[in-house]
Amino acid sequence: MAEAPPPCRGQDPSVAALLAVRPALSMHAMDGLVLEDVPLNAIADALGTPTWVMSAGTLRTRYRHLAAAFRATGQAVSIHFAVKANDHLAVLRVLAAEGAGADVVSGGELRRAMAAGIPAGRIVFSGVGKTVVEMQAALRVGIAQINVESAEELELLSIVAQAEGLEAPVALRINPDVDAGTHAKITTGLATNKFGIPYNRAVELYAHAASLPGIRPVGLAMHIGSQIVRMQPYRTAYARLAALVHAIRARGLKVDVLDCGGGLGISYRDETEGAPEALAAAIHTELGGLDTHLAIEPGRWLAGPAGVLLSTVILRKRGYDGMPPFLVLDAAMNDLMRPSLYDAWHGIIPLAAATAAAKEEQVHVVGPVCESGDTFGHDRTLPHMEAGARVALLDCGAYGMVMSSTYNARPLAAQVMVDGSRWAVIRERQTVEELWAADSIPQWVNQTLLPSGGGL
Ligand SMILES: *Cc1c(COP(=O)(O)O)cnc(C)c1O
Repeated sequence: MAEAPPPCRGQDPSVAALLAVRPALSMHAMDGLVLEDVPLNAIADALGTPTWVMSAGTLRTRYRHLAAAFRATGQAVSIHFAVKANDHLAVLRVLAAEGAGADVVSGGELRRAMAAGIPAGRIVFSGVGKTVVEMQAALRVGIAQINVESAEELELLSIVAQAEGLEAPVALRINPDVDAGTHAKITTGLATNKFGIPYNRAVELYAHAASLPGIRPVGLAMHIGSQIVRMQPYRTAYARLAALVHAIRARGLKVDVLDCGGGLGISYRDETEGAPEALAAAIHTELGGLDTHLAIEPGRWLAGPAGVLLSTVILRKRGYDGMPPFLVLDAAMNDLMRPSLYDAWHGIIPLAAATAAAKEEQVHVVGPVCESGDTFGHDRTLPHMEAGARVALLDCGAYGMVMSSTYNARPLAAQVMVDGSRWAVIRERQTVEELWAADSIPQWVNQTLLPSGGGL
């Protein structure tokens, strides 16, 4: 069983342990916590908090590590960054400059990826519910591949492509019915999940696709889930994919592309992160001999460790009857949703060196939003902090800012990119006025409120 260890007192990794496996972060006596060569306090001084900070250097280092792992096995693999993990143009541009393509799941992400300079020929479109408008847009720009997730979607795409006078390059996304051993909300490869085409219908549907006008089947795709740190689920899924390739080719049909999905996990707490070398080996072993073009769709592994969220302790609230106190941060679930959505654990490190070295204590770390789920850490072991202390929440580069909302009329936080000793604001903090800039009040609402003939 792959269950997360139960949260228990006193077993959280220390500040030193967290820093030891995060090479872009370091603690300095004077400057405090530094990302690449930029003291995070300087950013918080200039912009306030909460503020997201992305490390361009970390994005590059991790991309190169991943690409090198596949090169070492002698495989040419296209790396399509899963845009939903972090869709900021600057993030996409840094990855595009390294050679990344994109995996998108909406028309908006397609536009974003292209606006960041990723050519349509390096973009793959995934997702269970593409609309006609999204299909049209993808075909018109000449997208590399559409990953079709159902027989119904295939029929619709055929109609749309014919009407456009175009041919849709299609990979069928297969649901291998493999348990990725990850959190239920991020498992996608079980037969009971909404994703993909049932394994036992794949060969039939592929043959059908080959006969449909407007459809050009190019291969198969698979994505079994997220935050996967063990290789066995991948191996099982890829072995099943290989069996399908043989079965389809036995029908005299061509399979040229195998899209192996994303999902490689990172170390949030004390997990061993998914190793690119191990993933490359799994793909090489199971699929390497099939003479296809290979692709992967990593999101979290590339972007997660590249981002932090800076926040300030608003106040320290005494706990009931000797229970741990609450540290109330100025960041909340509307900024970083993962803890409330997935019970996710994020490392928390004080920005000041002296604070980071303070005596440890048990605390609850919460945000100010009016939901009990607005909790960043329950019973956490952290250095003693008072109101005004600043912290960095670690590993927020993926599924962080992209999931933010303005719940409780909280403006979207500012975003910064760090690169070596440089840093720049890559998105201004939203203003409160911008929150209702698109609101309008219908005339008849005013009419019902005003007494008739009233002189207001
Ligand atoms: C979310 C998603 C990914 C990326 O998953 P990560 O866990 O971030 O690597 C890749 N492919 C598809 C189809 C997805 O939906």
